[in-house]
Amino acid sequence: MQIAECVLVAYTGVFGAMVGSFLNVCVYRLPRGESVILPGSHCPGCGKPIAWYDNVPVISYLVLRGRCRRCGTGISAQYPLIELAVGVIWAGSLVWFGLSFAALQAALLATLALGIALTDARHFLIPDEFSLGGLGIGLALAVTPWGIGPLEAVLGIVVGYSLLWVVKAAGDWALARGLIRGEELDQVLEPGETPTTLGLGDLKMMAMVGSFVGWRGVLLTAFLGSLAGVAVFLPLLLMKRRSPVPFGVFLAIGAVATIVAGDWLLGWYGSLIAVGAR
Ligand SMILES: [Zn+2]
Repeated sequence: MQIAECVLVAYTGVFGAMVGSFLNVCVYRLPRGESVILPGSHCPGCGKPIAWYDNVPVISYLVLRGRCRRCGTGISAQYPLIELAVGVIWAGSLVWFGLSFAALQAALLATLALGIALTDARHFLIPDEFSLGGLGIGLALAVTPWGIGPLEAVLGIVVGYSLLWVVKAAGDWALARGLIRGEELDQVLEPGETPTTLGLGDLKMMAMVGSFVGWRGVLLTAFLGSLAGVAVFLPLLLMKRRSPVPFGVFLAIGAVATIVAGDWLLGWYGSLIAVGAR
């Protein structure tokens, strides 16, 4: 790699870490219904605002050794780790796709996927800001001259949403008739909430993924996400440990696998069909 390329990758990584810093705020505040703009970052211990020089991604955490400068309250290691992860996502997208529109698209979708995975894993919910807000970003990218185009994006949205709608309808039908058991859902339901096999957040999330990757990509995402889900939860099921599944986490994995290797996988599958048809 040339020196200029290394510098560009490094700057992209730093920019990604700054995006990650904002993602931290979103992941913490959105599930709590708080604004992500105001108030600015403050210490959960003493409530004092955090100065910009104590809010530098990753670095400040290391300098302060994970403690608030004023009161010494511990800062979760989740903050620098997410900043680092998003930095790697942005730098990695640039390395993988080169300096291109595809790299920007991949970095944005992977960042959204990480935000969704974190909130779904922790709170069993996918904020609309990630799903519907992300869908807005996906559409905006799609209609640029380098994008997948409005028709492909809308097809992706419709296919992503309706595919999961069908799965949800079938699952809820089976649940209501006692064909599948759902007692573990009690752990995540609010009082009075009807048990459901898939939340609306998962449907909206897949509409968002479709706006980025089109209809073939969103089908691949659902397939890969289900594979990942089964791979993780089958052993748990066999050990008779039943727990609710944050499906958004696995759809997020499917979405990232689709942007990284989707063209290759779809091409390989296409060639299999072509061979079969010969
Ligand atoms: Zn403090």
